[in-house]
Parts: sequence; C-alpha cells; structure tokens
Amino acid sequence: MVDRAVLDREMAENAVSAGADIMVKTYASDIRDNVLLTKGVDGHREIPFRLLIAADGPRSHIRTIRGMKPPMRFYSGIQADIPYETDTSFVHLYPDASPDFFGWVIPAGEGRARVGLSGGADVPSRFSSFVSQFGDSCLHQVTGTIPMGVMPRTYGVRTLFVGDAAGFAKPTSGGGVYTGVRSSRYAADVASVCCEKDRFDDSALAPYESAWKNDFGKELDFGYRFLEMRPKVSANDIDDVCRALNTPEMKRVIVEYGDMDRPKELMLRLLKNPTIFRLAGNVAKSELRSLLFGGWR
Ligand SMILES: Cc1cc2nc3c(=O)[nH]c(=O)nc-3n(C[C@H](O)[C@H](O)[C@H](O)COP(=O)(O)OP(=O)(O)OC[C@H]3O[C@@H](n4cnc5c(N)ncnc54)[C@H](O)[C@@H]3O)c2cc1C
Repeated sequence: MVDRAVLDREMAENAVSAGADIMVKTYASDIRDNVLLTKGVDGHREIPFRLLIAADGPRSHIRTIRGMKPPMRFYSGIQADIPYETDTSFVHLYPDASPDFFGWVIPAGEGRARVGLSGGADVPSRFSSFVSQFGDSCLHQVTGTIPMGVMPRTYGVRTLFVGDAAGFAKPTSGGGVYTGVRSSRYAADVASVCCEKDRFDDSALAPYESAWKNDFGKELDFGYRFLEMRPKVSANDIDDVCRALNTPEMKRVIVEYGDMDRPKELMLRLLKNPTIFRLAGNVAKSELRSLLFGGWR
C-alpha cells in the first residue's frame, strides 16, 4: 500500500528540485489571455504562461474556465481508518455495501483497517451503515469526488488536462494515482516539444491525447463499460462468480494475469471461461458480447 502523504511530499520535493515554484494556500481564480490569475495568502498574482497543465482535480476550475466538457459522471468516496484487526494478506470487497460500486476493507497496519466505499448516490448513509459493522471509532477519515469516464477531449486552448481533472480515475476501482502520474509524464513530454517548437495550437497539443490513449485508454474504456453494467449485477450474482473463480485453474489465471492498474487482460481471460461467461451473461449478455467481441467506443 502506498502512503499518500509520503508520496505527495516526495513528489513536491522532486518538483522543487527540478525548479518548480510551489505556492501553498493559493488557487487559480481566472485566466486572461495567456496570464493565470491567482488568489491566496500572498494576495493576488498574475502569472504569464505559454502552456497550462491543469492538475486541479475532479472539479477542475481550469476546465470550467476553458469551457471544456467534464468527465461523464462523478461518484463520491468516503474512507476511514479504524481500529480493526484484519488478516493482512487480504483485501475484502463488499458489493452489497454500494450497489453501483462496492465497499472495501484494506489492512492498514497492526490493528488498523481502512474501510471505505464509493457510489453515485446516498454515499454518506451507505457509508454509516457499512462502517458501523466494524466498530464505532474513527482514527482518520477522507472524503472526495471520483470522476468516472474521461472528459471528451483532454487538450485545447493552450491547456493539457491530467489526472482527475481529465477524469482518469479507473472506473473499476476509483484509483487515480497511477493514471494521474502516467498522464503527467505524457503531458511533460508534449509540453517540452511544444516549448522547443514554440507551438501551442491544438494540433501541437493533440499528441498528448494519443499518448495516454495508447497507454491506458482501452483500460479506462473497458472499465467504464463494466461500471455501466455494475448496477445490474446483484451481490448474489457476484457471489456466484466468486465461487466459479475458486478453482485451481482460475486462481492460476488470476495470479498470472492479475494487475490492479491494468485489469482488462485478466477480465477478458476470465470472461472467456464458459462458466464465468454464463453467470455474468445472465446479467448483461449483450454488453458482455460487445465487450468481448465488439470494438472500442
Ligand atoms: C475516498 C477515496 C479513496 C481513494 N483511494 C485511492 C487509492 O487507494 N488509490 C488510488 O490510486 N486512488 C485513490 N483515490 C483517488 C485519488 O485520490 C485521485 O485519483 C488522485 O488524488 C488524483 O490526483 P490529482 O492530482 O489528479 O487530483 P487531486 O489529488 O484532487 O489534486 C488536485 C489538487 O489541485 C488543487 N486545486 C483544486 N482547484 C484548484 C485551483 N483552482 N487552483 C489551484 N489548485 C487547485 C487541490 O487543492 C488539490 O491539491 C481515492 C479517492 C477517494 C475520494
């Protein structure tokens, strides 16, 4: 498990070493021509730019200012660290905790577990009833918005959108750190070419979208189609699928092809198993057929 506070601190230190100027308690309030206006503890500032990389999270203000279309939908997530003894070799998933997503319990050190869920509606009440089965004290709690489905175009008007601002969270898990970091690398590559050529028109920015799509675009597309099927799948259906997965051959496939950041390969292999396909097909046969045999949207 990655310690998010440590990761953020290390990334900030590396950015400063590479020459970045960090302004805390300051936000981008507007853009006039090629000047970013900020407000914060040091008052107002005007920062001229040649290219803007918007990494301002799921509700990106830069996206709104630029008039770009948002990600397809937004889920909410709540997660709490609680005192709870759990087997450190397992992550437990609870489909019935949130019918359009799932709940989770992740070991978070000795005597401590991270309990959370995400969903499109009623998330606080779903979370209260879910977490109450594990105890009544909370050591630390985080809440946030999770974008589901990438914004239709991730570049334009001298701006590249990365991470949650672009809607890069994985629809199968809600995780967005991996895709956020990878998209930022592609944005940096394209930004440096644009600066060298002194070209910032949309056609100079377009290689950014091709780069991330080639890397993880199909994963996100596949995940989003799974997410759309999710409300049709009951907890009993998921139990049936899990039972079918509990064979030596299926476990071998899971161990060999399982990759949390790239689940497409494993899912396709599992779905090609006749038992899993039959069980899952009872829920959404046409969607499954298009996932397995159709093209990408
Ligand atoms: C409960 C919960 C659990 C999660 N668990 C995981 C997990 O286990 N693994 C995983 O990979 N992902 C997880 N995620 C998702 C993950 O947190 C995000 O995908 C990730 O943080 C996205 O990074 P980001 O830098 O794009 O956006 P953010 O982390 O949202 O950062 C955006 C930054 O921009 C700043 N900002 C916003 N507006 C402005 C403005 N106008 N001007 C200047 N700055 C601005 C914000 O203050 C913030 O610091 C979880 C999310 C939630 C809600």
